[in-house]
Amino acid sequence: MDRRQTLKAITGGATGALSLAASKEVFAQAAATAPQPAAAGRDRARAGGVPALKITDIKTFTTKVGGTNMINVKVYTSEPGLYGIGCGTHAERPTLVADTVEKYLKPFLLGRNADEIEKIWQQMWIAPYWRGSVDANNAMAAIDGALWDIMGKRCGVPVYDLLGGKVRNGLRVLGSGGGRDLKEMEDRIRAQMADGYDHFRVSAPGGGLGGGGSDGASGVERSAGGGGIGRTASGELVVDIVPSDAVYNRKLIETFDHIRKNIGWDIEIGTDVHERVSPRGAIMLAKAVEQYRPFFMEDLFAPEDVEYYKIVRQQSSIGIAMGELFVNVNEWLPLVSNRLIDIIRMHISAAGGLNLARKVAHTCEFFGVTTSWHGPANVSPVGHAINMHVDLSIYNFGICEGGKFSEQLQEIFPGCPEIRKGIRYSNDKPGLGIDLDEKVAAKYPAGNGPAGSNRGVQDRDGQPRRP
Ligand code: MG
Repeated sequence: MDRRQTLKAITGGATGALSLAASKEVFAQAAATAPQPAAAGRDRARAGGVPALKITDIKTFTTKVGGTNMINVKVYTSEPGLYGIGCGTHAERPTLVADTVEKYLKPFLLGRNADEIEKIWQQMWIAPYWRGSVDANNAMAAIDGALWDIMGKRCGVPVYDLLGGKVRNGLRVLGSGGGRDLKEMEDRIRAQMADGYDHFRVSAPGGGLGGGGSDGASGVERSAGGGGIGRTASGELVVDIVPSDAVYNRKLIETFDHIRKNIGWDIEIGTDVHERVSPRGAIMLAKAVEQYRPFFMEDLFAPEDVEYYKIVRQQSSIGIAMGELFVNVNEWLPLVSNRLIDIIRMHISAAGGLNLARKVAHTCEFFGVTTSWHGPANVSPVGHAINMHVDLSIYNFGICEGGKFSEQLQEIFPGCPEIRKGIRYSNDKPGLGIDLDEKVAAKYPAGNGPAGSNRGVQDRDGQPRRP
């Protein structure tokens, strides 16, 4: 039956209406003959008696670029040359993730069927009995990402196609604003506007307020002022000092005021408060900046203080972003289902990986919450690719965090997503479309320098404060 005959049969044509049973048969026939590239690719891959795909080996790669530790995993299969890559980057505690993969997950998974992504994810989640550990989550996320990559390569389609297909051609990227003074910040924002950016996360110029000004995956060494306790090259102890609520709030209000008075109201602005004010200070801030209409006020409160969002929601209409520290469903579901946040910010590998993120995203869709997955330099390019494949395939994508990748990162990870005119694009290759060149990666071992960091900030009197 060709298209014309099918149409005639469905509409009744000159011969009159079809019976219900006949209509069903026509629709079933049409569906069966419709192009299905994923299925066709899978059938091609399995043609010729290809046996069930088994996991044959798992290798862990730890690298360090620009002071940032990254952990990636390759899962190899019984089909020669077919492997997948995933990201389990916990930049602060990389060896714990690598150990979890090598000592616990690898023996558990060798010989398993690589196609059973959901089953393996569920088993990895409960494997250690105690759930919700960021180390265990990153380890299982690395395996999970690799299994999706394998499935995509096997089917001959990008992972976003496995997830439902593209909803958009690319992802709008979050611009950043910071600098030594307000003029420098303004110039930087204007330069990015000329390059197509229209959403900005800014921090008050001068530094010291933390968060906010990250330019994403640039691979640039994190400054001492970026948060943390550490030592300089000469051995001097550096401690990040948190300003008082009064100083923090004044500087941010001045920053937003400058942007609105000098650049105007046609761009979206926001900041990452990064838990750096007290809950009471955060409520004052939320009310004070409402007049500047920020779409993205991130981490007003620490995960321990999320009940305060109920108060903020009643007193201010600012856009609320939260989630990069979440590791358990009970942390995000109440905030989403009670409509207390607008933007979900999970660090996908820390939360459990792509398989979880797609469920989080679909749940958020029904509560008007959009995505902006955590995507600074401490997410490997493979992690950025995973963020991108989820975001390309969901309706409720919000804004993409992530900068252009450094030359070193592009050399280690061929196939990095690209940004053109403020939009991040996939290369549309099968799987995640990104790889790890083992020879190049060996040139950037994570063994150089500290294996992680001991983040911490304190008040002027020495009292520990949240980072
Ligand atoms: Mg943040």
